[in-house]
Amino acid sequence: MNRFDYRRAADVAQAVSLAGQAMADAAASTGRARFLAGGTNLVDLMKEDVEAPLTLIDVNRLPLRAIEELADGGLRLGALATNAETADHPLVRARYPVLSSAILSGATRQLRNAATNGGNLNQRTRCCYFYDTATPCNKRAPGTGCGALGGFTRMHAILGASADCVATNPSDMAVALAVLDARVRVTGPQGERTIPLADYHRLPGDQPWRDNTLGAAELVTAVDLPAGDFSAHYTYLKLRDRLSYAFALVSVAVVLARDDAGRCTDVRIALGGVAHKPWRVPAAEALLRGGMPERPLFEQVAARMLEGAAALGDNDFKIELARRAIVRALGQAASGRPQSQTDKRIAAGADMNAEPT
Ligand SMILES: Cc1cc2nc3c(=O)[nH]c(=O)nc-3n(C[C@H](O)[C@H](O)[C@H](O)COP(=O)(O)OP(=O)(O)OC[C@H]3O[C@@H](n4cnc5c(N)ncnc54)[C@H](O)[C@@H]3O)c2cc1C
Repeated sequence: MNRFDYRRAADVAQAVSLAGQAMADAAASTGRARFLAGGTNLVDLMKEDVEAPLTLIDVNRLPLRAIEELADGGLRLGALATNAETADHPLVRARYPVLSSAILSGATRQLRNAATNGGNLNQRTRCCYFYDTATPCNKRAPGTGCGALGGFTRMHAILGASADCVATNPSDMAVALAVLDARVRVTGPQGERTIPLADYHRLPGDQPWRDNTLGAAELVTAVDLPAGDFSAHYTYLKLRDRLSYAFALVSVAVVLARDDAGRCTDVRIALGGVAHKPWRVPAAEALLRGGMPERPLFEQVAARMLEGAAALGDNDFKIELARRAIVRALGQAASGRPQSQTDKRIAAGADMNAEPT
């Protein structure tokens, strides 16, 4: 049993100051203070001895639960709004259904009722070696090595991995936020700042214990979605070992826009389950812009998105799975037939019927 202090913050400033103080007190170690939101990830990790914070700062009473329209037409999602509240919100469903779909693809209704947006963004990897304290893991215990290298790698990264870490980011929500060009609002000892979602999560490099670019004692207060209506052409396609209650082997979020002639005027694609962060490749998206959304072009886009992919044996299949998933997801989005998260059979895109992938 690890002893820890439990503190309940009354406001954002106090939460940040308590975190700053706890970090300073535990200067010798990294990350010994943790914010507690829904607890669906952090408490599990504490029970498993993977995380042992010296101070838990409960942020659940902070006024960060609202989902509200912004003056510029965007939408602000409070960090403490639950995943269920976010997925079910009428404006999210109407304008950003890819986000609703991605959240609904994950976990269970009970978990989504407890899990918060801030916690979802900051959830830790599901790498089995990160969880298994009997094995080395540079993310859990810096400098000990990586148990996955030479181990069981079915769930592991095929893009952006390093010699120190091959873990993936498990969040479905983050993949949808990536295609919406969301911005993460944070408050820390130096004040407020906004981090583009693309820069929020990071690749492991030689510091795999750092999942993201959040500074010490910084608290996520909200996620802002830019104005836009992404309801006509979108999908969130999640492929996994079970049809529900499982993390993605590969997932694909797509939003796109078409002009009157049917050409793509905008397209954004992000992959989940394949890297330490949601994976976007602007050069691949550019291949589709201005073109007709058809299978040969989708194949080119998939090839470009997966350039440099490298597997480790058990996860070799992921490269081909990702290629097919990108092609299928683009077909779904282009045809306006998004993947259902209730009927989990993989939906075909209109132009996919002739030649199933
Ligand atoms: C059985 C199971 C299945 C799951 N399946 C899926 C799935 O398929 N897809 C998926 O995406 N997720 C899945 N999850 C993960 C789930 O979505 C996360 O556990 C949840 O979103 C975390 O939110 P929370 O509020 O409970 O965070 P907590 O557990 O309270 O916190 C998680 C981390 O975030 C930090 N944190 C929390 N709030 C903030 C904040 N405002 N600012 C900065 N840091 C913060 C905490 O310090 C901690 O490090 C699953 C979880 C379980 C237990």
